[in-house]
Amino acid sequence: MAFFEMVKTALKTVVKRPVTILYPAQAAKKTPISRGHVVFDGNKCISCSICQRKCPSQAIVLNKEAKSWQINRFRCVVCNSCVDICPSKCLFMDTQYTAPAMAKGVDTFTITYVKPAKPE
Ligand code: SF4
Ligand code: SF4
Repeated sequence: MAFFEMVKTALKTVVKRPVTILYPAQAAKKTPISRGHVVFDGNKCISCSICQRKCPSQAIVLNKEAKSWQINRFRCVVCNSCVDICPSKCLFMDTQYTAPAMAKGVDTFTITYVKPAKPE
């Protein structure tokens, strides 16, 4: 019985088109809620380090002294926790996938946020 099921499935695949695509040569199917990769805006980051503490895979490293924010693309599991928790909305999830990561997969960004002066 299992043999006939297998033959039926095999014959069906002969006439069907493949369900997979030749990514990245062919664009991946995206929706508005697709999770591609985390994007960082250094102009808004207030160096609170909440994203680093909440990241379940320790993919984020914040260095307040050096004013740098790093993400390890190989560690990131694209869970969206950092995007949800960031109080200054400087993180967002792009629906595009990244280009293949090279070397250690670490992207480093500079924090350029300047605290606004208190009104006198
Ligand atoms: S998406 Fe998740 S795993 Fe990736 S950096 Fe943000 S919190 Fe960490
Ligand atoms: S990215 Fe957002 S959560 Fe992370 S340190 Fe900057 S302001 Fe805080």
